Amino acid sequence: MNQTAHNIDHAEISKFEELASRWWDPHSEFKPLHDINPLRLDYINQRAPLAGREVIDVGCGGGLLSEGMAVLGARVTGIDMGEAPLTVARLHQHESGVQVDYQRMTAEQLADTRPQAFDICACLEMLEHVPRPASVIEACARMVKPGGHLFFSTINRNPKSYLFAIIGAEYLLRMLPKGTHDYRKFIRPSELERWARAAGLELQELTGMTYNPLTGEYRLGNDVDVNYLAWFRKPEQP
Ligand code: SAH
Repeated sequence: MNQTAHNIDHAEISKFEELASRWWDPHSEFKPLHDINPLRLDYINQRAPLAGREVIDVGCGGGLLSEGMAVLGARVTGIDMGEAPLTVARLHQHESGVQVDYQRMTAEQLADTRPQAFDICACLEMLEHVPRPASVIEACARMVKPGGHLFFSTINRNPKSYLFAIIGAEYLLRMLPKGTHDYRKFIRPSELERWARAAGLELQELTGMTYNPLTGEYRLGNDVDVNYLAWFRKPEQP
């Protein structure tokens, strides 16, 4: 059993540990994250302006999004359960001079110690790697202040997403190492919305993220069949 009481899948963490040294190499296995980073940063910043905000990045990995948000003026805390990604993230901020507070802990632990501490929570490309994503969403909801914003991104679960995200990305185009994703852990928007609603969050918008293999470009749009972003708010009055 990889599944623990702490909602961590150690096999999933290991995958990222092994690749971590290449996290900031834009031509590595992390190329897709580099490519989508400006799009998702802009998406967040347009809906919840980051300057001066207290922001938490859940499952921050090597810190691509965390640093991006800090450059836009946010005070960013990044949490992850991978030791190597966090080491890479901490080393990189010495090079870049961008200040982020990186900590090794789960979302559930942080929600217990710092409830309602953050204006904005980002949890991107992480939910499909945990045993119980609903528990992470509930924790994210707890760590955000009333009126705060939450952003999740993950991969939809349907025949098209299997074809594009597994067969296409891992086998045909080899954009990601084989086994990066497990189809069974993909999350339908309806499931994400149901878990978020149970945690008291209100859906604001669902946005698709599509990849064009001919141009090598990503775009945001209405097609949520494969990769998608979801924006939620925590109501002012619970
Ligand atoms: N959010 C980052 C990294 C995505 S990769 C980005 O989009 O750029 C997924 C990350 O989730 C990895 O760094 C992995 O170590 C982390 N992760 C997986 N399970 C986790 C858990 N239970 N708690 C915290 N982090 C986790």
